[in-house]
Amino acid sequence: MNAAAGVSAMRFASTRGQAPQAALSDALLAGLAPDGGLYVPEVLPRLDARDFEPGGDLAATAARLLAPFAAGDPLAAELPAIVREAFTFEAPLKALAGANASVLELFHGPTAAFKDFGARFLARAMARLVPAGARPVTILVATSGDTGSAVASAFHRQPGIEVVILYPDGRVSPRQAHQLGCLGDNVRAFRVAGSFDDCQRMVKAAFADRALRAVRPLASANSISLGRLLPQMAYYAHAALGRWRATGEPLDLIVPTGNLGNAFAAILAREVGLPIGEVVLATNANRVLPDWFASGRYEGRASLATLANAMDVGDPSNAERLKWLLDQRPAARAGISADSVDDDAIRARIRAGEARYGEIFCPHTACAVEVLERRRRAGDDRHFAIVATAHPAKFETVVEPLVGHPVPVPPALAAMLDRPAVAEPLAAEDAALRGVLLG
Ligand SMILES: *Cc1c(COP(=O)(O)O)cnc(C)c1O
Repeated sequence: MNAAAGVSAMRFASTRGQAPQAALSDALLAGLAPDGGLYVPEVLPRLDARDFEPGGDLAATAARLLAPFAAGDPLAAELPAIVREAFTFEAPLKALAGANASVLELFHGPTAAFKDFGARFLARAMARLVPAGARPVTILVATSGDTGSAVASAFHRQPGIEVVILYPDGRVSPRQAHQLGCLGDNVRAFRVAGSFDDCQRMVKAAFADRALRAVRPLASANSISLGRLLPQMAYYAHAALGRWRATGEPLDLIVPTGNLGNAFAAILAREVGLPIGEVVLATNANRVLPDWFASGRYEGRASLATLANAMDVGDPSNAERLKWLLDQRPAARAGISADSVDDDAIRARIRAGEARYGEIFCPHTACAVEVLERRRRAGDDRHFAIVATAHPAKFETVVEPLVGHPVPVPPALAAMLDRPAVAEPLAAEDAALRGVLLG
């Protein structure tokens, strides 16, 4: 990996090295590389805090940051408009009362979780890649909760795009099911009479079906997509630049982590030159990442169910991107650590949040708070930013009994919950999904 020379076209390579390099647009449409690997930049661009105009908003930071990643691609000219349309809400860095710490709030989007940023960017980029008059592209997703609602909301009413979402009937929370079924128009939600694994198998079978795809073009929007990963760097860059200008110090981060998409974006932002210091990965009881760092050996395993269920991942897909990065830049390892938090500690941090910080935390964010408190007990009194990945009202069934009162629902989420919701039933069979897609 060398510093990018000038404005040469950016190409993306597969982590497995057995696929041709692709331009940004092609990598976005493909999702996964043809060799089964994940797309990574062939060359890491070099940016500097001084490349960014002081006083710009999040969209301005995003446009500047992402420009070298789109260099030479048809999307390059569209980038400023894409980020303006996608980032219509901010990601504020707020002081955490009495704690020499801050909270990076990533839950001000329509579905009240950080996935809104990446999904909305990808949707607006893809809408520009489907030629007017061409057959629509169908985004096909299996979801156990948060991803599906962010994707459904992001692609809702995007021209040239249809969305088909499968979720296991009765196994997502009522509020999550409502968010999936309330959009309508180009979004169809199916409640599958089976498990999340059934939904995933059906989706995989559809993607593997060439005859089907010849008639009904399919694309994916899952968290390994480059089009979700890259825009996630923007809020870290923006928050870090703000702190850098105010204090001259880099921003140290504690990031709730499951599939490692969000935290990897923070690490990548640091590696391209943004003033980000340590990145601490806060996992739930799924401790594959802390165990990897402790032993030097990566061993994926089955996932455990926890209260922070959007992070119930036993074999994080983006570990493959982190291994690639550490091969290229072994020095990056010193600025990454990981710690695992069990359900008892999650409960304790949610319970104590209001009295201690005047904040209600979602179960994922609570993992990061616990890791901050462990740092304090170990004598580390640096400033850290806790990353708040979701609004607590999304996880009301966990949070409300612990705080002892209802959690007010933010307006964007309330607006979604006010719409009527419809989900169509579907048998847990590959042929049933095929019928829907060909129908
Ligand atoms: C998806 C999600 C996470 C985990 O993010 P990864 O990118 O998979 O590490 C954490 N918190 C919430 C609320 C999420 O929805």
